[in-house]
Amino acid sequence: MKFDHILVRYGELTLKSGNRNTFVNQLKSNIKYALIPLEGYKVLANRDRMYVEVTEDADVEEIMRRISKVFGVHSVSPVVKVEKEIEAIKEAAVVLAKDIDEPGKTFKVDAKRSDKGFPYETFDLQQILGGEILKHIEHLTVKVKDPDYKLLVEIRRDAAYLYSRVIKGAGGLPVGTGGKTLLMLSGGIDSPVAGIEVMRRGVTIEAIHFHSPPFTSEEAKQKVIDLTQIMAETAGEIKLHLVPFTDIQKMIHKTVPENLTMTSTRRMMMRIADQFARQIDAKALVNGENLGQVASQTLGSMYAINAVTNLPILRPLLTYDKEEIVIKAKEIGTYETSILPFEDCCTIFTPKNPKTNPRLDKVESFESKVDFDAMIETAIEGIETITLSKNNQKTESDFSDLL
Ligand code: ATP
Ligand code: MG
Repeated sequence: MKFDHILVRYGELTLKSGNRNTFVNQLKSNIKYALIPLEGYKVLANRDRMYVEVTEDADVEEIMRRISKVFGVHSVSPVVKVEKEIEAIKEAAVVLAKDIDEPGKTFKVDAKRSDKGFPYETFDLQQILGGEILKHIEHLTVKVKDPDYKLLVEIRRDAAYLYSRVIKGAGGLPVGTGGKTLLMLSGGIDSPVAGIEVMRRGVTIEAIHFHSPPFTSEEAKQKVIDLTQIMAETAGEIKLHLVPFTDIQKMIHKTVPENLTMTSTRRMMMRIADQFARQIDAKALVNGENLGQVASQTLGSMYAINAVTNLPILRPLLTYDKEEIVIKAKEIGTYETSILPFEDCCTIFTPKNPKTNPRLDKVESFESKVDFDAMIETAIEGIETITLSKNNQKTESDFSDLL
């Protein structure tokens, strides 16, 4: 059966009646982005539904697969749209039923009528269409409770829509409707997943990554660019800000006792992220921290690290088990890149015995011996920004002519 439309349902969006137009417009634009570079479709949205009109030669399965992954989409169905004429509806019902025709299978017709002016009652329409299908396809039988197939018919104001498949969508809210956050992106497994998790709730992200060349390699930097690229494929353009962190890291190792260097390193990252977030008008930081996973992620460590900022910090993976995070990373396609063995700045400078319960006053006192404020300012001035969008990337740093 050739379907002429894909029906896109919004689900949760319906709750937000005040912002509905903004949500629908954003979702429409996100769906168009997800469909690049496919052809043969047109996205049509109205207040409570979206239809994607598809041409004869369009790859309907691929279009549906991509739409179903867009955040804010509740479910999708391939549909046949016909005029609200009983003969046309009957004909379409039979054609659709032929598609689900397997000997011995059961079916039922489920009709909904939002156009009350339509001359057939729901029950009558079900009877007529069920009878018509049985007339043309002998080895199907009707079963009202729990049939193998359901043929759904919706009589709406503009037309009649028929379908039998409902494919679950990604849920959540359309990216771009929830404000902006700054994601602290390492090359590890967790932070890309954390980024996708907040995007699922409608938030846009920019990413910040700290690197320490020559201790960290060009490959490690490329890995983070690749991870951002994968996230940008899913959820729209993402800016990646690369912070030169070498000098600060060296200074920490000169000034702070070894077992507190980790705490101090995280605090400096957080201070930079905090200042930079304000510059780009991001309203929160996001990281991939997970309670108790490693020394820097105990409650005691979080307390000492968190003390440098009063921005909200979103930790969507806080209570996940590692296996759950790995499953998600595989789903979003970042896992294979994340496990590439290029070390990031934290791995290289990891102390042998980091404090799991660092004392805030001690850390502060060691740090106060150096003018970290000035170093932080220099690091922020040296930020290189790369914008990643679907299948392409452009560089717009102050140093772009040197790259
Ligand atoms: P990940 O897999 O995201 O690296 P992890 O379990 O390895 O997480 P850590 O290395 O302790 O944990 O990092 C905790 C969080 O700190 C990361 O999820 C990330 O948000 C942030 N982070 C760590 N290193 C960097 C970095 N080099 N640049 C930016 N953010 C970082
Ligand atoms: Mg890590």
